[in-house]
Amino acid sequence: MFKIEILGGVGEYGRNCFYIENQGKAILLDCGVMKNSQKTPPAITLNHVEKLKAVFISHSHIDHVGALPLLEEMGYKGPVLMSHKTSQQLQHPISHIRTFHPDSRGTWIKVNDYLAFQWGYSGHLIGSVWYKIRFFEKVIFFSGDYVRDSYLLKASLPVEDGTIYDVAFIDSGHIEKNIDNHEVLRKLETYVNEHPNNAFIFPSSFSGKTVDIVTYLAQRTSRAICIDTKLQSLFKQYEEEPENIWPHRMTLQVGHKECTGDGHTLYFVREQDEARLEELAKEHPTAIFIETGYSRPSFNQHVSMQPSQEFFYKTHPDYQDTISLSQSIHARQTIYFHSPHTHLETTIQKEEVNNG
Ligand SMILES: [Zn+2]
Ligand SMILES: [Zn+2]
Repeated sequence: MFKIEILGGVGEYGRNCFYIENQGKAILLDCGVMKNSQKTPPAITLNHVEKLKAVFISHSHIDHVGALPLLEEMGYKGPVLMSHKTSQQLQHPISHIRTFHPDSRGTWIKVNDYLAFQWGYSGHLIGSVWYKIRFFEKVIFFSGDYVRDSYLLKASLPVEDGTIYDVAFIDSGHIEKNIDNHEVLRKLETYVNEHPNNAFIFPSSFSGKTVDIVTYLAQRTSRAICIDTKLQSLFKQYEEEPENIWPHRMTLQVGHKECTGDGHTLYFVREQDEARLEELAKEHPTAIFIETGYSRPSFNQHVSMQPSQEFFYKTHPDYQDTISLSQSIHARQTIYFHSPHTHLETTIQKEEVNNG
């Protein structure tokens, strides 16, 4: 019997975890927790773990890997598959990791007699991937977190070979929006250039978005750019895996560890580092905060008084991207995840785009 159970991540933003059972054996697609203070885990039970033969991990964000330690505690000892780069980004050590390298992309990789997969880049974070999985006679597509138009990171899809997927899991994280990332970058460049006498503060995440924005601006402004040391490791990874990057979009060398900014500098600070954000706000009262995603409510008063401007940059598919993904992946059943705006019953009319 073929059975799918959503353990988290559909109809909500976080704890992505999808359980698929076939002929008494099972696989898991991602194993994340909610990004709340309780770190709410997915609804995994011992019954699930007993049948589990492999776990496929799309990338290193906690809403995709945060419950792997729980899975181990529950006794899972099978392989945990992920890209080599993803394994380097994990914050907690995990046993039984099985990694794959850039040169294997697009080829079938065998896990055991009834399980094999292909992978490709998904454009969301360096090393983030999609999977095409053959599980007995069933074929499954899992987009992972997907960005179609990252400035630097490649995003591909499986080679079109007539495959009809039995089920496709498609990221719909920004389905309520319509955004062209390249246009956002152009507008941001203009805005920065129109304010030569202000510093800029970018609360930044550990994601492809941050490297896209830094690189794009660095190539177009002579102003100083200061990047948090904790974000700098991300830049180093781009040098290590050029296969993941669109050709001719060279990344910059972030070698300078200390950065002495001034009143015109562009500061990239980890969004969780409220102390540093506040310090910079005090230092540069006319600095403009740039919000590139959903702004967090927990900002303290000093920071929230500061002038700010939104340049929303996608880290997930928007409405058009979600439709075009679901059109490209021919599937009997499509499950949209990573959004409170989609749920298990969501269907998207495949003709919608053609009709206007
Ligand atoms: Zn992510
Ligand atoms: Zn995610």
